Amino acid sequence: MSDLLTPQSAFTLSNDYKIPCLGYGTWRTDDRTALSAVKIALETGYRHIDTAAGYKNESGVGEAVKESGLARADVFLTSKVFNDDRGYRTTLNAFEKTLSALKTDYLDLYLIHWPASAHRFDNWEQINLDTWRAMTELYKSGKIKAIGVSNFKPHHLKALMNTEIKPMVNQIEYHPGQTQEETVSFCRENNILVEAWGPLGQGRMLSNPVLGEIAESYGKSTAQLCIKWCLQNGVLPLPKSVTESRIKENTYVFDFEISEEDMKRINEMPYIGGSGNDPDTVNF
Ligand code: NAD
Repeated sequence: MSDLLTPQSAFTLSNDYKIPCLGYGTWRTDDRTALSAVKIALETGYRHIDTAAGYKNESGVGEAVKESGLARADVFLTSKVFNDDRGYRTTLNAFEKTLSALKTDYLDLYLIHWPASAHRFDNWEQINLDTWRAMTELYKSGKIKAIGVSNFKPHHLKALMNTEIKPMVNQIEYHPGQTQEETVSFCRENNILVEAWGPLGQGRMLSNPVLGEIAESYGKSTAQLCIKWCLQNGVLPLPKSVTESRIKENTYVFDFEISEEDMKRINEMPYIGGSGNDPDTVNF
């Protein structure tokens, strides 16, 4: 990627579309909170907002983008098709609802939120392929600039690799102690950008003494360390906060470099907590 200088510096996706290297997460944020928090994020300098139909805040996010006064082309918007809408026709319909809620006529990135998995569906591969066919069609029509998946493990990804358009992004849970190495390697080999959801372990990383000690040695917070660690591993972090000071704090990650030795220490940390959600066993 280009120099890691600002939140607007970009990774380049396999189709050459640029994606700002720091995203702003919006899970568990209702419309009203999303409106104010996303506006603060945009004022702070984030240009990449991650939402989903399942978050039920696309309307607030869309309003924030409008009220920010920024040109639509200057904001990278991601949304996701939720599990109830998997399948071809249902995905096309869900996409139209998402566009309308976001008050836009295109998306920068659209993701399959969770794979249909074998423990719930005998025909899981076909369901994912049908969903993907709809995404591909929308991509080819120009209504989406890039398409991808989320929470896909290598076996879910493999089932999509013989299609006309390959996934460009896989958004997975990724933080110290949860590095999903097999999935990340598969993505690297197939030119799929990995995005980190829960880069702070949904807050769980922030009280870890080892991370705290390393962060302190750089004069940084543990949140900043986790965000920078993602970036130095070539993974795009999507930290979330609705508190103005933290929204800002999470962008001050471009003025320091984690040493190779500390990267290794963090990369080798054992599991220290996470969401516990395995795409192969979740019941939603
Ligand atoms: P996160 O790791 O970003 O952690 C968020 C928590 O950390 C919040 O409680 C917040 O208050 C706290 N926090 C943030 N910055 C802080 C700071 N500087 N100091 C102290 N505390 C701080 O967790 P997340 O929200 O679950 O994940 C980030 C984003 O990833 C989501 O908002 C969403 O956009 C996306 N996501 C996607 C999926 C998926 O299935 N694709 C699942 C979960 C989240």
